[in-house]
Amino acid sequence: MAHIIVIGAGQAGASLVAKLRNDGFDGEVTLIGGEPEIPYQRPPLSKAYLLNEMTKERLHLRPESFYHEHNISLRLGADVDAIDTANQTVSVGGETLSYDQLALTTGSSPRRLPAQIGGDLENVFTVRSLADADAMAPHFRNGARLLIVGGGYIGLEAAAVASKFDVEVTLVEMADRILSRVAAKETSDYFRALHKSHGVNIHEGKGLKRLLGEKHVTGAEFTDGTQQDFDFVIVGVGIMPSTSLAEAAGIEIDNGIKTDNTGRTSAPNVWAAGDCASLPLNDGRIRLESVPNAIDMAEIVAGNMMGASNEYIPKVWFWSDQYDVKLQIAGLNTGYNRIVTRKGEHEHAMSHWYFKDDKLLAVDAMNDSRAYMIAKRLIEAGKSPDIAAIENPETNLKSLLK
Ligand code: FAD
Repeated sequence: MAHIIVIGAGQAGASLVAKLRNDGFDGEVTLIGGEPEIPYQRPPLSKAYLLNEMTKERLHLRPESFYHEHNISLRLGADVDAIDTANQTVSVGGETLSYDQLALTTGSSPRRLPAQIGGDLENVFTVRSLADADAMAPHFRNGARLLIVGGGYIGLEAAAVASKFDVEVTLVEMADRILSRVAAKETSDYFRALHKSHGVNIHEGKGLKRLLGEKHVTGAEFTDGTQQDFDFVIVGVGIMPSTSLAEAAGIEIDNGIKTDNTGRTSAPNVWAAGDCASLPLNDGRIRLESVPNAIDMAEIVAGNMMGASNEYIPKVWFWSDQYDVKLQIAGLNTGYNRIVTRKGEHEHAMSHWYFKDDKLLAVDAMNDSRAYMIAKRLIEAGKSPDIAAIENPETNLKSLLK
């Protein structure tokens, strides 16, 4: 009987095995995960779960019974140590398992601060796993002093949660503005103002020099020479695709596990999907770090493992929750040269539309799901609306779809 092994029991791995069974694959399926937990969703780790508004059970993508009922062998709590692509085997927990086809859904891991600058002190956290969220949760209490290093989505979401617990939050961003890697200045301005209105101290253009403390962190020294006391630190300075297993097996890497547009890697019968995969897009390559990408790519790969040859064309969308603001993003803003701002109907509702000349590339919609939905449909259809029409608050956005 054909055996499919999937390495990485996260969002992509769980979607892939479910799709195999839904589409009628009746061979053996093994899903191997390094974490002890059954597959769960990560977005709430920096949002509702950290706010105590969501139970651990609700994080699970499917109940454990799903895997039994669908005859999916789950092996949790042990990382795969090696892949032998010539003999089509993987080594895990001292055992060697043979595969006919293999999928790598190993995700990514957060960048950590080097030990030389205090990165290994106690009470210094990253936010990637359930274990990370559980470890930091007790520190979110009234009056505690938190330093957040990095003004990307993870850092800003953590700041929003912390401020709800009346934690004193200081966030430092080395670049000249928060969200500079992913968003336009207008979106950075919107979120800076939002956080400041909730009492978060945001310092842009200021880096961390080192963390202070003997055993656990007690403070920080910054690049401008200042020092400040802190009780705990959250580091949100980006992630690295988990490629070491693939690399050691001789599989090609290019800022992620290199795949073609069907999800195939350079090794025979080996596929990749999710955060760890680098895929062709336009004339270059891209690696997407989002739930929709993990699900959609995994489902395409599942079909292709069963004999289809479908191309994966990412429909890029993303979201972030901070305080009472829901940010929804559609499209990729790479190469934009013009931002069009549109005020929405509700409080704090606003959207920023990214154009390259006359071509609509992406939108950031804050508390404006209507603008988001319409922009998403336009982008997916390759349509670019008239800029003046977007700027005009009288325009009924729906009319742009015609
Ligand atoms: P993962 O979910 O990371 O799963 C990979 C799994 O592989 C891990 O469990 C890992 O332990 C395992 N693994 C790695 N190596 C091995 C090995 N050798 N052997 C066995 N197992 C291995 N995305 C959004 O779209 N919207 C959001 O609002 C959002 N918020 C987020 C908030 C947080 C705090 C985090 C951490 C992420 C967020 N994301 C969000 C990103 C999203 O969660 C990821 O893009 C998604 O989880 C990627 O899925 P994946 O399956 O590729 O990787």
